[in-house]
Amino acid sequence: MYGDEFDLCDEVIMKGLLNKLAAKYYHAFMAMPPCSTFGCRRDDGGPPPLRTAEGPELYGKKGLKPEDAEKVKVGNLCAINAAAAAEAAMSSDTPWLLEQPWPQPDRAHMTRFSEWQRLVQLDGVKSKKIAQCALEADYCKPTLLMGTIATDYVENCKHEKQWLREVPSGRWIFAAHPPLRGKLKAVKSSEWTEELRSRRPTSQDEFLTRSAAAYPSEMNRVLARDLIKAALDAAKSRMSAGLPQTPGFSNPEGEEAQGHSTMGPGTDRKRKAEGPQAMQQRIVFEKPLKGKPPQEGSARETADDVCIGGLRAAHKALGKIPGLRKAGEVVRKVLTKLLLKDPALFKRCVSSIGSEEELSLIHI
Ligand SMILES: [Zn+2]
Repeated sequence: MYGDEFDLCDEVIMKGLLNKLAAKYYHAFMAMPPCSTFGCRRDDGGPPPLRTAEGPELYGKKGLKPEDAEKVKVGNLCAINAAAAAEAAMSSDTPWLLEQPWPQPDRAHMTRFSEWQRLVQLDGVKSKKIAQCALEADYCKPTLLMGTIATDYVENCKHEKQWLREVPSGRWIFAAHPPLRGKLKAVKSSEWTEELRSRRPTSQDEFLTRSAAAYPSEMNRVLARDLIKAALDAAKSRMSAGLPQTPGFSNPEGEEAQGHSTMGPGTDRKRKAEGPQAMQQRIVFEKPLKGKPPQEGSARETADDVCIGGLRAAHKALGKIPGLRKAGEVVRKVLTKLLLKDPALFKRCVSSIGSEEELSLIHI
């Protein structure tokens, strides 16, 4: 799923996705929440860690620069939303997987979030290790796959160690793969030339961790294969148990089922007409981004419950007042038109929010 309509940091979109997952709308679910603020790229000569390995500051160190605090907040939101989506998938027996780098000792990791730890304890959830180099990656990249989908991949690197030379220092390294550190990739000793000593990373060069972030194509292939297989198996068990099928699974052996497995935005739009009645299950979605759940029964909570709603969770108020949704659509159209007409206004709005990412979009 890709596109603005799948922005998982948007609470309203996320709520819709959770409802659909809980209503067995999708055949399978997989998420790879970005881990860049967790340390997977912070040990590569890049910026210092933004989180501690444990404790409250696992959700973000105190005293971070505003732009780092924002990155951490988005990282938390993606991590927590991915776990919530997995839980919703679990509730409807929809096969699911979450992916993260394999945890390192004394390093922050998403699996230490209480939201993820809850998942691990659920029946049928397995955590598997996978070495991406066995699936044609240039680096070992030990990876964690957690979920209900059975996977059977090579866990550890089986490649022979060889002599490599670090660029530009020329330092000798005896390893199966170049280390994922810095911006310049180590070369095989046979490829080393003295000119490489003058090589310096430029601002255009990315950290190796970043350039190696994409899955190798063989890994995409086996993951797609296993997601489809899990979806077909789930459909077969539902069929034999006499349970209703996910749309598109009238014939789990047939082409229709496989054709829907990509879950693209087009498919999603097409299905909107088919299943709104199935999406009425109530999902409570409140995210304590600092890892501190709200105290149940507190005076504040009671007040929040009886209150129609405010700006903090505007979508709640929207649900309580009939007609607001329609009015909202009209207002949205007017505002969008105004913003498109006056780019300076758009810039002023974004500047006051202070989002680095959105500001960079303005210059495109
Ligand atoms: Zn290997």
